[in-house]
Amino acid sequence: MRTSYSALTTYQQCPLRFKFQEIDRIRVPKGLEAVFGAMIHNCLKFMFERTPLYPTLDEVIDRFRTIWQNKEITNLNFEEDKAYCEDGISLLKNFYRLNQPWNFNALELESRFEVLVSEQENEEKHVLTGIIDRIDKISNTDIFEIIDYKTSRRMPSQENLDKDLQMSIYHLGISRRWPHIKPENIKLSLYFLKHGEKITTSRSKEDLEKTKDFVIELINEIKKRIENNYDFPPHPSPLCDWCGYRPRCPMWKHLYQSKAKEIPGQKEIEKIIKEYFDLKSQNQKNSKRLTELQSSIYEFMAHENVERVFGENCYLTKTLQERFIYDMKKIKEILEEIGKWDEVAKKKQFSILKATKKKPGA
Ligand code: SF4
Repeated sequence: MRTSYSALTTYQQCPLRFKFQEIDRIRVPKGLEAVFGAMIHNCLKFMFERTPLYPTLDEVIDRFRTIWQNKEITNLNFEEDKAYCEDGISLLKNFYRLNQPWNFNALELESRFEVLVSEQENEEKHVLTGIIDRIDKISNTDIFEIIDYKTSRRMPSQENLDKDLQMSIYHLGISRRWPHIKPENIKLSLYFLKHGEKITTSRSKEDLEKTKDFVIELINEIKKRIENNYDFPPHPSPLCDWCGYRPRCPMWKHLYQSKAKEIPGQKEIEKIIKEYFDLKSQNQKNSKRLTELQSSIYEFMAHENVERVFGENCYLTKTLQERFIYDMKKIKEILEEIGKWDEVAKKKQFSILKATKKKPGA
């Protein structure tokens, strides 16, 4: 199979989205965030290209303004358009201030790679492709740094970054391109442009072997789904908001249908759903308040050293529960001595059976 890191990530996030995108090859327009991200990437590539001099900050900003004005997205209102444009400019200014291009030794920009992973059992080979935003060689060292730019706000924890599939696959990509580089000499970094923060990880030889196994596992899972009548279920999540396949996804069918035409019973079901959520939220508030009241009552009882408290026409009693812990080994010894163990054990078994016996139809 030939696939890419981003296709595998899409599969992990939602198998149905993977099917739409990679198997059915249905093309949908890119969302606003993706378009914005692609433009920023374009400007950062331009910033590190030396022709023969590095571009100035003004040239980078001009480039962004031009491509932003020529974008194909037309449904933005004036305020949104202005906010995105200003966001892009401030992000690029900030980046330029912290990362003047002449201070880095960028070897490659938007570098394409291919990784070969082979299955030992059947010798089947798979190709993984990807694009690395920037590869630097750190001056006066043997260290190479892979840098991937992110325009998202959410930064992963170090723990998650250390297990991140993208970083592992990029490492495999660079190792295939330049096999002489030792794994410990490869730094893997994500640069979060909105925060001006870079977080870095690395991989050992063992980590990379595990990554290959994991990739093979994922590919086999996909193959099985294809064999199983293209069984790619939807996995709804907050990421649905950025999914271009929402209008054709079964999880969103009702929303789109109800927008497109009058559905019989639509008004009633809306009322029922509203009441359901109102009650649920009321229940949550009630149960929170009940817990607070209970703890105030217990506090009072403890302070006054009483087991029962009286209100107007009502009272509350503290329930005492005695719990025993049996030493089963000792009990067995005693019962065996008097010849009663088998009888008791049978009864115990019977009561367990009774307790676990399912009701018809349950
Ligand atoms: S809308 Fe959500 S559930 Fe449906 S395909 Fe897209 S990501 Fe998957």
